[in-house]
Amino acid sequence: MLDLSGKVAIVTGASRGIGRAVAVLLAARGAQVVAAARGDHAASTVEAIQSAGGHADLAQVDVTDGASVAAMVAGALERHDRIDVLVNNAGIARDQLLMRMKQEDWDQVMATNLTAAFQCSQAVIKAMMKRRAGRIINVSSVVGQSGNAGQTNYAASKAGLIGFSKALAREVASRNITVNVVAPGLIDTDMTRDLTAKAQNDWAAQIPVGRLGSAEDVAGAVCFLASDEASYITGHVLAVNGGMYM
Ligand code: NDP
Repeated sequence: MLDLSGKVAIVTGASRGIGRAVAVLLAARGAQVVAAARGDHAASTVEAIQSAGGHADLAQVDVTDGASVAAMVAGALERHDRIDVLVNNAGIARDQLLMRMKQEDWDQVMATNLTAAFQCSQAVIKAMMKRRAGRIINVSSVVGQSGNAGQTNYAASKAGLIGFSKALAREVASRNITVNVVAPGLIDTDMTRDLTAKAQNDWAAQIPVGRLGSAEDVAGAVCFLASDEASYITGHVLAVNGGMYM
């Protein structure tokens, strides 16, 4: 079993969905998790981890605010003196056809899904370089690979994450820091729960595995990339999509 004992992992968007499942699994494998979301939204994740005997603490962050990101990382370093793993998971969708998309919906999606990964990565990279060890895992999407009508902003942000990750992977590989991407398909979380039952069934029909993915399906992939077993994998895009896009 993958062992993350002694590792300190920041997970953004840890209040629910994929981020929560990632935080819970990393902690179950022994990591000290810094569970980050807005306000005290990730408090119940921290409680769940602690009541299962794991280690976690709460961090408040708005990932679209550079000062807030810097404070979150500084706080984590102060408490734990190291950061081994950063999971850039926080994300939003503001879907609309291009013709009708508001500038604000473009800007907000880019800020949350792409610029935040730049800021969080920049905030942790010095500490990782100093220790000559680190794992950055960026949560992209199948939509960043395939495109999807009504999601030009979301697809651009998620495709951007892939390019960002490959470029950074090259910059920091010699310091024993890996940068990888997990690209989930259609996962059953708040983000997709608004889809009608019919839409969910239509989507599922396009997925060879025949079902929506779970947050835990994605967490397993993130956990692997965070582990020592994945130390020779960098700049990789790991699809967790039930075969939806190959
Ligand atoms: P949810 O909507 O369930 O959760 C989103 C998370 O992001 C919440 O924890 C939320 O925290 C956090 N977040 C959003 N905006 C901010 C912000 N400004 N500052 C801090 N935290 C923020 O989404 P999912 O779990 O479904 O998605 C997680 C990631 O996976 C996203 O990047 C998404 O794009 C990606 N993804 C999801 C897929 C799916 O089908 N569900 C498919 C492919 C990719 P708060 O409590 O503060 O709102």
